[in-house]
Amino acid sequence: MLSAKLLKQLQAALGKEALLTQQADLLSYSYDNSRISLLPDAVVLPSSPAQVVEIVKLCNQHRIPLTTRGRGSGTSGAAVPSQQGIVLSTERMRRIIKIEPDNRLMVVEPGITNQEVQQAAAEHGFFWPPDPGSSAFCSVGGNIACGSAGPRAVKYGTVRENILGLKAVTGNGDSIRTGTETTKWAVGYDLTRLLIGSEGTLAILTEATLKLLPKQPSTVMMRALYQDMQSAAAAVAAIMAQPATPAALEFMDHASLKLIRHQLGSHFPAEAGAMLMIEVDGTSQSIDGSIHTIQQAATNAGLIGLSLAESQKEVEQLWRARKILSPRLREIAPKKINEDIVVPVSNIPALIAAIQQLAEEHQIQIANFGHAGNGNLHTNLLINPDDPQQMQRAEVCLEALFQTVLELNGSISGEHGIGLVKQPYVALEIAENERNLMADIKQVFDPKGILNPGKGPRRG
Ligand SMILES: Cc1cc2nc3c(=O)[nH]c(=O)nc-3n(C[C@H](O)[C@H](O)[C@H](O)COP(=O)(O)OP(=O)(O)OC[C@H]3O[C@@H](n4cnc5c(N)ncnc54)[C@H](O)[C@@H]3O)c2cc1C
Repeated sequence: MLSAKLLKQLQAALGKEALLTQQADLLSYSYDNSRISLLPDAVVLPSSPAQVVEIVKLCNQHRIPLTTRGRGSGTSGAAVPSQQGIVLSTERMRRIIKIEPDNRLMVVEPGITNQEVQQAAAEHGFFWPPDPGSSAFCSVGGNIACGSAGPRAVKYGTVRENILGLKAVTGNGDSIRTGTETTKWAVGYDLTRLLIGSEGTLAILTEATLKLLPKQPSTVMMRALYQDMQSAAAAVAAIMAQPATPAALEFMDHASLKLIRHQLGSHFPAEAGAMLMIEVDGTSQSIDGSIHTIQQAATNAGLIGLSLAESQKEVEQLWRARKILSPRLREIAPKKINEDIVVPVSNIPALIAAIQQLAEEHQIQIANFGHAGNGNLHTNLLINPDDPQQMQRAEVCLEALFQTVLELNGSISGEHGIGLVKQPYVALEIAENERNLMADIKQVFDPKGILNPGKGPRRG
């Protein structure tokens, strides 16, 4: 419960219509795509960095938990106000401050959606590489705070490689600026990278300088079908071992293909055990050479067929099928466990073999798809929450899966982050001394621990 004094102070700082306290309004800010939900005590809708500073200072003074929210599309519970208090939504901070094609940058407020950024950049022949499947509705602030990425990361990198600088407000209410507007700099610690992926636990982002890249004039999509997952995984490693980097390299296993078969056309072969979607981009002079070398690398004994999409319609059909997979899996298993494990590309064949073995051993149906070019797989455990024995087996299976990923030099999350759902597993990956160092950093940025409490790595 918030005190009447604090509510009055917030109202004075923001105006009446930027403070929500009615239960019906609070409900929309209580959950994210993890489906975990808890009602906040109030929601604030700042329109400027100055208002963010005022909110943080008041929360600090009254020791009230403050959870920043972009669009609530995160899958880990990171935007859920797990200790109630106040949710700060960035939905009214969505201006494009400037676009400078010659400097290849765009400066934006955090509440703008990823898609709005892409549209504005495209008008100048540019794009911003992070392209999560949720781009139509997720915010750039959320992308940065989660370390998000999408299919293009294989060639163009994730958020980590594509932010030049940030403005943010720490837990004390101090405004800070990190990085520069240049692609080179060498003065001081890299606070930009520290804030990327910090899930709103260190500071609230109020402005971001995005690194833009020019769009390549030609793009071609290839579809490679394999007898089994092992052959497809071996092809991914071979493709990444040669110099022509695909602009996207997506993987789907047999269980995933079964769900979207009708979306892939009437001639889709029933014997296909796995599929790769391989996008290649470049100039009209270079693209044929890249296609040729990638085709050679993709060819192995398990290849059933490799074809180039013949029309834009076919390309869009493939991407639509790929993007619909996660919601489709949720239809058949509403409480599915959706992991986003990542390993070095050369270890994908070993990971796939281990997943098959774990599925058999624990009798859990598992469907895999994802950004294979980065070694990042969305491993979906299709569980029935009404079957307690199966749930128990799934838990053991999950922990064994994470152990395997770490033994293969990978990470338990490639892009979804820790939030609430990965909290129990952080210590598997990050050693105690490193967790303590992270907790010390948190203490410096947010001495009273008001920013998104209960999230991020913990001491001990
Ligand atoms: C259908 C679907 C497809 C998806 N596909 C992908 C994908 O391909 N790749 C991928 O990486 N993710 C994907 N996601 C997950 C999600 O969309 C991304 O993590 C996205 O970046 C979250 O953005 P958001 O604005 O919804 O953030 P939210 O969910 O609102 O917040 C996420 C985290 O960021 C923090 N945060 C938000 N804004 C700020 C700010 N201004 N300052 C400080 N902290 C802030 C929040 O506190 C929270 O910790 C998908 C989700 C869905 C539902």
